[in-house]
This record gives sequence, C-alpha cells and structure tokens, in this order.
Amino acid sequence: MKENIVVVPVIFKKFKGLSAKMLYGFTKMGKTRLFPKHDYHYNHMKNLALVYFNLTPLCNLRCRMCGQWGDKGKMKNGRIAEEIKTLVPLERYKEIIDEITPRRPVIYIWGGEPFLYPDLMPLAKYMVDKGLYVSVNTNGTFIEGYAEQIVRDRWSTIFVSLDAFEETNDAMRGGGGVYQKVLQGF
Ligand code: SF4
Repeated sequence: MKENIVVVPVIFKKFKGLSAKMLYGFTKMGKTRLFPKHDYHYNHMKNLALVYFNLTPLCNLRCRMCGQWGDKGKMKNGRIAEEIKTLVPLERYKEIIDEITPRRPVIYIWGGEPFLYPDLMPLAKYMVDKGLYVSVNTNGTFIEGYAEQIVRDRWSTIFVSLDAFEETNDAMRGGGGVYQKVLQGF
C-alpha cells in the first residue's frame, strides 16, 4: 500500500541506528538465500544483526495470499500436524535468548499468528527485560485483549498488515470483522 511506503522513510529517519542494523540483517539474509553456496566468511554468532523467531504455524485467519494458509499455502497438504510438534517451549527460548543477548540482535517475532503461541507474552517480556529490541509481526486480531500489557511490557514495534479498506481487506484475509478487530486493537 502507498501508506506503508510513506511510513518506511519516517521510521528510518527516527531510528537511524536500528534501521541500519535491520537493513544489514535483511540484506545479509537475502544474499545468503540467493547465493547459499557462497562462502561469506561470516561468523553468524559473532555478527548477529537480526534474529527471527517463528513461534507457531497456527493462525486464526486464512488469508488468500498467505504462503502458509492461503490458496497455495504449504499447510494445505495437512503438514500442520507435523509442524505443530516442532513448537519450542518457553524455557528453551529463554536459553537461546541468554545465549544471543550479548550480541545485541534485533528480535523479529512472527508465525503463523504469534499470539497463538501460548507463552508469547512472557517470552516477549523476557526479551525486553534483557534489553533487546523486540518487534512482533501479527495479524492484529488479538491486540485488543493484550493492549495494556503490550504497553506495560514495552514492546518496541508491532507490525500489522491491513491490505485495503474494510471490504477488500476482509475478503482477502478470509473473514468478516478482521478490519474492525484490528482497528479496535489499535
Ligand atoms: S494472518 Fe498471516 S499467517 Fe495468518 S493466514 Fe494471514 S498471512 Fe497467513
């Protein structure tokens, strides 16, 4: 959407250091995906810029364009039963956070819908308390119920996708009321 593109330079201007770090991480990730066999002489543990946590494949929406739950999504073939077994417990995530905190990476949490991971709130708080920049990518339908706690726990960023105005957005996102729910959450 046009509005998304307009917002990006504003964020970059406001948080220059963080933006540079995220850009570096995304570029690095893109390059390793494009040229996986190239030797980058890159020590990932030493130079951690951005760490993704894909907490759960579960999602309450069925967006048409989704790579997981959409018309051509990978969960269509019943893969969810296998994926769900791979959920990582909170205590293990905490150990990982303890290990990577000294590298000061930016944390990016996504899913599925991360609010369907049962320990999202304590996990995000643990990360924030460690002084990490915690960004969460959500479909926005659960924000309302956790809004006060999110502010209290000082999450750094929430990414929410709205694809269009109400009628089109809800048609794309697989259900009526999604648009209003997200706005209510804000
Ligand atoms: S909210 Fe996200 S994960 Fe869920 S179906 Fe839509 S695009 Fe996929």
